[in-house]
Amino acid sequence: MNHISDQCIFCREDGGIPVYLDEMCRVVLTAEPFPGFCRLIWNRHVVEFSDLSATERQHCADMLVATERALRSLLSPVKMNIASLGNITPHLHWHVIPRFTADSHYPQPIWAESLRESRTPTLPPQFIDRLKKAIMTKLDEVKNAGN
Ligand SMILES: [Zn+2]
Repeated sequence: MNHISDQCIFCREDGGIPVYLDEMCRVVLTAEPFPGFCRLIWNRHVVEFSDLSATERQHCADMLVATERALRSLLSPVKMNIASLGNITPHLHWHVIPRFTADSHYPQPIWAESLRESRTPTLPPQFIDRLKKAIMTKLDEVKNAGN
């Protein structure tokens, strides 16, 4: 399943505001009503994590760690949620979601019934630029400092 599919939205579109891109994958900031909700999207059309090579799996894991650490450093969420579902869009992607006690669903998953009106903080000034820089910094730490 390495072909580009006309039916696949992640083959046709970025899937959000790009904040990181390399030859294997990208990270986008979504328009979902959860502050800092990002997606890590594999560039090539693969369906499952187990479709990746060993090198790709390692890079995917490093990118998840870098993205999670970047969001934690900028937003100080009470918890991070990382999920790979893809039932509706079967093109490998991961949801990387900062969670706050005042968000509309906490402590339930964001896909559950809403529990309240969200009272999460708005994103800080220049958030997109700061997120781009933070992902690069954290990725460098993961790749080069080995942590
Ligand atoms: Zn696709």
